Amino acid sequence: MTVAWHVCRYCDEPIPDPDDAVLVAHVAGNSGPGWNIWAHRAHAELVEPDPVAVRILARVLITQALRS
Ligand SMILES: [Zn+2]
Repeated sequence: MTVAWHVCRYCDEPIPDPDDAVLVAHVAGNSGPGWNIWAHRAHAELVEPDPVAVRILARVLITQALRS
């Protein structure tokens, strides 16, 4: 039986200890439930948000601000 380890978003290394895995984000899927993003406890604060999502959100906020 194989055990699926989480992979750290920051360093791309597997996280063998479940107590060391921190859930840092959830990515919504287009045609499914999406998936969770994990990081080592020491790396959790170093994971940066998805730049594409941040850019899209910034455009929406700028457009809303210019219309009001
Ligand atoms: Zn890590």
